[in-house]
Amino acid sequence: MGYTTIDEAPMPQPPAEPVTPNEVIRTDVAIIGSGMGGGTMAYALKDSGAKILVIERGHRLPSEPENSDLNEVYLKGRYKNADTWYNGRTGAGFKPGVYYWVGGNTKVYGACLPRFRASDFEETQHQDGTSPAWPFSYADLEPYYTRAEELFQVHGQIGEDPTEPPHSKAYPYPALDHEPAIQDLADSFRRQGLHPFRMANGLDADTPEKRALCATSDGAPNEAGLKADAEKVTVDPALASGNVTLMTDTKVTRLVASPDGQTILAALAENNGRVIRIEADKFILAAGAVNSAALLLRSATPENPRGLANSSGLVGRNYMVHNSTFFIGINPFKVNRTLWQKTLGLNDWYEAGPSNKYPLGNLQMLGKLRASMLKMARSWAPNPILKAMSDRSIDIYLTTEDLPRRDNGISVIDGKIHVWWEPNNLGPHKELVKRISKAVRKAGYPVIFTERMGIETNSHQCGTAVAGHDPHTSVLTPDCRAHDLNNLWIVDSSFFPSSAALNPALTIAANALRVADSLLATGTTSPTTMTADNRQPTTNDR
Ligand SMILES: Cc1cc2nc3c(=O)[nH]c(=O)nc-3n(C[C@H](O)[C@H](O)[C@H](O)COP(=O)(O)OP(=O)(O)OC[C@H]3O[C@@H](n4cnc5c(N)ncnc54)[C@H](O)[C@@H]3O)c2cc1C
Repeated sequence: MGYTTIDEAPMPQPPAEPVTPNEVIRTDVAIIGSGMGGGTMAYALKDSGAKILVIERGHRLPSEPENSDLNEVYLKGRYKNADTWYNGRTGAGFKPGVYYWVGGNTKVYGACLPRFRASDFEETQHQDGTSPAWPFSYADLEPYYTRAEELFQVHGQIGEDPTEPPHSKAYPYPALDHEPAIQDLADSFRRQGLHPFRMANGLDADTPEKRALCATSDGAPNEAGLKADAEKVTVDPALASGNVTLMTDTKVTRLVASPDGQTILAALAENNGRVIRIEADKFILAAGAVNSAALLLRSATPENPRGLANSSGLVGRNYMVHNSTFFIGINPFKVNRTLWQKTLGLNDWYEAGPSNKYPLGNLQMLGKLRASMLKMARSWAPNPILKAMSDRSIDIYLTTEDLPRRDNGISVIDGKIHVWWEPNNLGPHKELVKRISKAVRKAGYPVIFTERMGIETNSHQCGTAVAGHDPHTSVLTPDCRAHDLNNLWIVDSSFFPSSAALNPALTIAANALRVADSLLATGTTSPTTMTADNRQPTTNDR
């Protein structure tokens, strides 16, 4: 059953009786989620002197030949392990674009790691309304972008993209060069007066041999370990420090607050049918924008019937993704042999300019589409046709900003996640598709297919607990601590006040480093005394 608006949805009910845990463990800092935000936070706090426990509902994704077997990855959905979410309006179930593994979504991400533009942090006028300012500026985040680029081994080149904001340091690795078909596309764009650039990327793929080993790594894991994912570059080094422990297969189901609702006392988690109560001085939530908001809503009590950290009523609201289109250009007479296609970007209309009154968005490449990927969307189409198409296509991903709306949001009904999402700002998106169609045709690809992505393509989700100065209009302080709570921070993309139109992961990592610094500066992670009967965390790390 659906609800026309999110306001009609019932609130989660507090449990009828207190839950009796099978085990109680204690740590200084509990981090919920081991993806981009949580993993980076664990890395940043590893030498703080505090005992850090990372709690992850998934386990380690196996490194196996199936990692690059496209039938396994796409047709059989071998690594797609998220629960079903529901369209709040229609009640229809869908499989979201989220993955529950150590490293979170970064295990399958395309590792495009651009910084947001300086204008993304400022109030910006769009066709459908205002994109709000962030409570900190690009300049504030810049040093952390530099650190995040080093951590995630980003390859890139300053000076190619006119919208690139100032960098205090060069990229740590040279940009990945285009393969011939993409170089031809870039050359044509340039002849057309555009400014293509080599996209910032966290993939170690600077030789043809390495390219061959990561040709399928956008949307799939990389067995060769060439992708800078959060497990590899943050979680594992954090564990190696000896100060960080990882609990896998452990899903946090509820946060328990003090009677005054101002302090989180414990997280309740399920591990193989057992209930574990995890007590900590500080809690860092990094379960992904939807799951983090859902956890706060699920933690409702009679004293806090709207959930925790929710005096503003904005937990779960302002849900944003991107307006995105998969764009395929085909030249029937030219085979595209590119292995790693995601080397090209175009931001000519990212910001408002002489030819566009409002910002349009970003062009980047998709990982090379193959027949089995197209089969998912067009199951009726014969395989030889799909193969002929994908062999001759260049494959593009277009993203435009989705503006925050109170009515776009998530709610938990009968324990299940429901999403209300009515896309906005579609005029600029259509204009971007139109302009790119023209440019791609001119580049020699006369046949074009486009498909705008729907509610299930939500891997760029954000905004469900926005950061801001005013507790009435935001959930988190500028340093990402809950306004209502003295010991809960959120470091996934929930805090984004706007979605920008670029990939979010580097900004999540940079912000986690920034928040970690604010914790370290205030001494809030100084070790707490462990009492004799406190049990050490159990590691269930497989
Ligand atoms: C196919 C694909 C391609 C992508 N490509 C790019 C790209 O090229 N560039 C880019 O910038 N971004 C990309 N993204 C998006 C990027 O991966 C995410 O923005 C980023 O990983 C989000 O970080 P996060 O910390 O918010 O969440 P995640 O990285 O998803 O981490 C959340 C973690 O929390 C765990 N968790 C959830 N709920 C609980 C709970 N209740 N208890 C315990 N643990 C929990 C999850 O299992 C997960 O490990 C892509 C995503 C996908 C799916």
